Amino acid sequence: MKKTLPEVVAEILIHNGAVIEETDDGCLEFLATETLADKLNLPDYGKLRFGYNDSSGDAISATYDSELFKAIAGLLKGKGEFSVASFESSCPDTEKLLKNLNDTIALNNATFRMEKSETRKISYLLCYFKYTAISDEKREGIAQVLINELNLSAVPFEDALPELEAVGEGSAGIERHDLKRVFRSSYSAGVEMVKESLKDFVRSLERRLNRDIRRVHEYYETLKNEARIAIEKKAASAKDRAAREEEIDRQLKKKMNAIETECKWKVQDLKTKYSLNIRIEPLSIIRIETRSPVLWINIKRRLAARPFPVTYNPLIKRLDDLPCELCFNPKKPYFICDDKLHIICSACFKTCPDCGKQYCGACHTNGCPKCDKNKS
Ligand SMILES: [Zn+2]
Ligand SMILES: [Zn+2]
Ligand SMILES: [Zn+2]
Repeated sequence: MKKTLPEVVAEILIHNGAVIEETDDGCLEFLATETLADKLNLPDYGKLRFGYNDSSGDAISATYDSELFKAIAGLLKGKGEFSVASFESSCPDTEKLLKNLNDTIALNNATFRMEKSETRKISYLLCYFKYTAISDEKREGIAQVLINELNLSAVPFEDALPELEAVGEGSAGIERHDLKRVFRSSYSAGVEMVKESLKDFVRSLERRLNRDIRRVHEYYETLKNEARIAIEKKAASAKDRAAREEEIDRQLKKKMNAIETECKWKVQDLKTKYSLNIRIEPLSIIRIETRSPVLWINIKRRLAARPFPVTYNPLIKRLDDLPCELCFNPKKPYFICDDKLHIICSACFKTCPDCGKQYCGACHTNGCPKCDKNKS
């Protein structure tokens, strides 16, 4: 179940130290700390409204394009500044987790062995992104990505936030990736998740694009036929048969080329019109520290091996899926690449359309390595 805008705004404000209460008319009443009120340019106490045309007295607008919304994103200006909270988890026993390990890992071209398990402190970032998807229409909304900082496994997080306890700076010594890397991965996951949630919209765009392209082609076919008839008619009066045919050929070729070029431009225009441009920007981030079982596996591909921590996620109460180290929104099963043993999902393990070679998109961000070599 997707969260509504008021629910998300309430969550973010609460985690920045506000007290929130829902009112009967769909507004939120808030009581903000002085620091928060200052940062958001709000009074200490007030009411927020979320509709565009409701006039709930002197309530402050909190729609997607409101000043308040911009100010909330501004809370994140210093990327390292976000609230840290801890979550008291109840860990299931490792035996139970091991039963689901094969399904979770689902490797297509490699094997793995379980090495050891331990229970330790790990951390997640819960990232709230505002997205704007623009095509011939505009869609706005919020995407929430929960990403594990130890192994970069990311999931869309749409559940209600469980009880968290603010812990100030957080604990030292939790093993995790560099914050920049975690951010980048959560962005990538966010964009992919938004695309997925807009599936129906994307499908309707494609449908309209194809319909319009078909119409353009039909139109230019008619144009071509008319041109052919006109040219033949005009040349019919010439006496010399060979010269006549040559002239028809010459004129036809010229005309057809012109029509085809114009048709190509028209199709390109349509593609631009219906292309989907997704922009996401972070609104709020909460780091959640928790204790959880970590199962260390050893992934084996040919002669190489790579140790990897598989984690139990107490917030969604199941094992975290392996990440796709390219899109971070994996489609199972996974492939392991030969060179660096990247974990890559089925959607990202590409087959080159020119030479048919399968390659790792994380190793070769510029496309097929074989064809690239041929080019230079
Ligand atoms: Zn992927
Ligand atoms: Zn790779
Ligand atoms: Zn190729």
